[in-house]
Amino acid sequence: MSEPNTTQQKVDALQQDVNAFISENLTEEMVQGARLGFGINRELGTRWHQAIHQRGWIAPDWPVEHGGTGWGIREKQVFSDAMALAGAPMIMPFGIDMVGPVIYTFGTQAQKDQHLPSILDGSTWWCQGYSEPGSGSDLASLKTSAVRDGDHYVVNGQKIWTTNAHKADWIFALVRTDPDAKAQRGISFLLIDMNTPGLEVKPIVSIDGMHHLNQVFFENVRVPVENLVGDENAGWTYAKFLLGNERAGIANVAASKRQVGRLKEIAKAEADGMGDSLSSSSDFMMRLAAVEVQLNALAAQEARVIASMESTGSPGDAASMLKIIGSEVEQNLHALRVEAIGYYSLPFEVPLIRGESNLPAPGPDYAVSAVADMNFSRAASIYGGSNEIQRNVMAKGVLGL
Ligand SMILES: Cc1cc2nc3c(=O)[nH]c(=O)nc-3n(C[C@H](O)[C@H](O)[C@H](O)COP(=O)(O)OP(=O)(O)OC[C@H]3O[C@@H](n4cnc5c(N)ncnc54)[C@H](O)[C@@H]3O)c2cc1C
Repeated sequence: MSEPNTTQQKVDALQQDVNAFISENLTEEMVQGARLGFGINRELGTRWHQAIHQRGWIAPDWPVEHGGTGWGIREKQVFSDAMALAGAPMIMPFGIDMVGPVIYTFGTQAQKDQHLPSILDGSTWWCQGYSEPGSGSDLASLKTSAVRDGDHYVVNGQKIWTTNAHKADWIFALVRTDPDAKAQRGISFLLIDMNTPGLEVKPIVSIDGMHHLNQVFFENVRVPVENLVGDENAGWTYAKFLLGNERAGIANVAASKRQVGRLKEIAKAEADGMGDSLSSSSDFMMRLAAVEVQLNALAAQEARVIASMESTGSPGDAASMLKIIGSEVEQNLHALRVEAIGYYSLPFEVPLIRGESNLPAPGPDYAVSAVADMNFSRAASIYGGSNEIQRNVMAKGVLGL
């Protein structure tokens, strides 16, 4: 067969490659594990990560010299859409989407050599140590301190809502290195080995019955100074760079497309007389159509943000818009799903699926029910910076108010 030469031919060829890869590598076990989102078992998540890594596709947004694919926007879209439409496990964002780009952009050569290979091959898992009790939206008020003592920083304080801290090998943490400077100016960005003495992880069980959130306590945790990223007291700059990428990633367009497809199938089956729920009513169809229109507009906006990222290296403040609309679409679809499948969406007793937590069961586990998913989707308008905060960012940065 001749080599593809036009852009369209290249995109079509990639589409075929990706589809073939999915049918060869994506097992039913992985699709089931993917339904747990962040709660996926680490071994299963890593197996999927490594399969994609071996194919060379794990970091489409990274520069080629650091292991990126060199794809343009359309190739990236083809890839992420195919993965989400197939129901593949998400690639954990903390390494590939968050700390990886910070390290290759602002880190030392030693940090790049130490961390980028294991982020790419999925052998190291990371978690994000930003939020603290009382410092979520007002992140710059964070209090966890890092005091220089010879070749180390001594870290004391507490992080909260730390997703997958119990599964992670490393945490990237914002710490206060200058208590006297104006809030944003006294913050630094540290890479901390989770096995360092004095660091303790305590679980938080969320409304879906799952354990993926944690508190992380630091008591005289000694961190080598070479684990500081960039300059001391300049961490806010790196933190904001990372948050922009995080918000752009939360739009979840392809996953929502999959959800719309499934809801249409259910509604069609109902309309064909195969069920008795509300999903064939014209009111339901109208609401589903309205969410689909919102999703299509979001997809167009996402393509614009990706294009801007390619030219400027950063999604900019428009990432906030993706985060707001993406999370609203996700929540609307989860509510429609519960309505569509009626009583099948209710909590029911199933064998406990809690990722790798060894916590005892609090009662009936409904981690795999539509109601549990709908409840947890409420968090989408909180994490990555709440939607109210994103509206403030938009008002200031995009509308100039
Ligand atoms: C499921 C989940 C996973 C998370 N994972 C992580 C993680 O891995 N790492 C991490 O560091 N953090 C994580 N977070 C924390 C998340 O970033 C914070 O919850 C979020 O930033 C909000 O902070 P807060 O919870 O302290 O709420 P608060 O800041 O106390 O806000 C409470 C309410 O007040 C509103 N509000 C606050 N300030 C303003 C304002 N100026 N204008 C208008 N409204 C305002 C907020 O929108 C919100 O509705 C996670 C959170 C959730 C729910």
